[in-house]
Amino acid sequence: MAKEELDCSFCGKKKADTNLLIAGIDAHICDRCIEQANGIVVEEAKQDKTSGLTSDVMLKKPQEIKAFLDDYIIGQEQTKKVMSVAVYNHYKRLLQPASEDDIEIQKSNIIMVGQTGTGKTLMAKTIAKMLNVPLAIVDATVLTEAGYVGEDVESMLTRLLQAADYDQEKAERGIVFIDEIDKIARKSDNPSITRDVSGEGVQQALLKLLEGTVVNVPPKGGRKHPDQKFIEVNTENILFIAGGAFDGVNRHISKRLNMSAIGYKASHEEEQIDTENLLQYIIPKDLKDFGLIPEIIGRLPVLTYMNPLDEETLKAILTEPKNSLVKQYKKLFEMDDIALSFKEDALDFIVKKAIEYKLGARGLRSLCEEILTDAMFVLPSSDETVLVVDKAYVQKHLTRTQIKRLKAVS
Ligand code: ADP
Repeated sequence: MAKEELDCSFCGKKKADTNLLIAGIDAHICDRCIEQANGIVVEEAKQDKTSGLTSDVMLKKPQEIKAFLDDYIIGQEQTKKVMSVAVYNHYKRLLQPASEDDIEIQKSNIIMVGQTGTGKTLMAKTIAKMLNVPLAIVDATVLTEAGYVGEDVESMLTRLLQAADYDQEKAERGIVFIDEIDKIARKSDNPSITRDVSGEGVQQALLKLLEGTVVNVPPKGGRKHPDQKFIEVNTENILFIAGGAFDGVNRHISKRLNMSAIGYKASHEEEQIDTENLLQYIIPKDLKDFGLIPEIIGRLPVLTYMNPLDEETLKAILTEPKNSLVKQYKKLFEMDDIALSFKEDALDFIVKKAIEYKLGARGLRSLCEEILTDAMFVLPSSDETVLVVDKAYVQKHLTRTQIKRLKAVS
């Protein structure tokens, strides 16, 4: 083919009419077509980013968010409801177009109060999974004020960046779960007490992050890599969820409730107080009395609580969630063509032991592991195709010494 006959395979323009014609294997493309194609690529990428968020997040209304949580988390109805609304509002705020009016929707950072092992981390994890956003789980106990031994509060953003594969934009709409926030409470009611490295100072440092600020984050974390380039992370759209057991907060709640009870004694309609589960009455003031500074409480405006897990809930946790322990073990055995089943009395017994030895939901896993280890060791090399776990089987494989050992490690 003569050179002058070349034309663009996309628009058909002759080479002479283009500024540039690039040759491929079997085709040519002109500069204008490249520009147009590039435009399409950029536009598509943009749409992907927002539509990713829109379809993942915005199509789910609070009731659908709760339905998703229901698949993984047993009970905790009130918290699931509160979380669903908070998360919905958070992402609504995130997607709001730059507003012409002056109404700025405030962030709905969340604080969850409840004993350990009641599902606080699971709640944060499930929400992150549903939204398909990165999640960083950080322990407030390791945080210290800048300059002290321990981690600076910025380290939680390093974790988030890592969870987002260093994609800054992804990190900026992720979730940070701050566990054991109660451990940075002020130890004394006297605010003028000599500097309290791991308490109030950390709360102060957290304030800005919670509210929204741009932070220079060392992507590999703190002080070990002084030469690394910082990545700027804007925390404005990051959802912070804090959790803590707040051991002893019941004292503040009951004191407050008793005081108001005296004040309103006259009213016969006074609601009966459920003294077994005082956390359900928690209000921000109780957190303040516990030792969180008011500014922190103000930046965690959604306050909710976790119920303690009773026998019935623990049993449901064993069997009902989408990836419940029983379902997981069944699957493991199925891979060796063994049909595993649990009798009701076996489940009841496991749950009873978990409660008796105060192992909580976290202990269920270790109990099951103890019970099934022998079978998991022997059966794959045998001809067995069925394993029925009943109470007698559990009793045989779960001695008191074993449970005590579990208690020691949990
Ligand atoms: P917390 O953060 O409150 O200490 P976790 O979320 O770490 O508790 O819970 C520990 C484990 O117990 C979880 O991995 C989960 O398997 C189980 N668990 C606790 N509460 C629930 C629940 N309400 N529904 C389902 N599983 C639960």
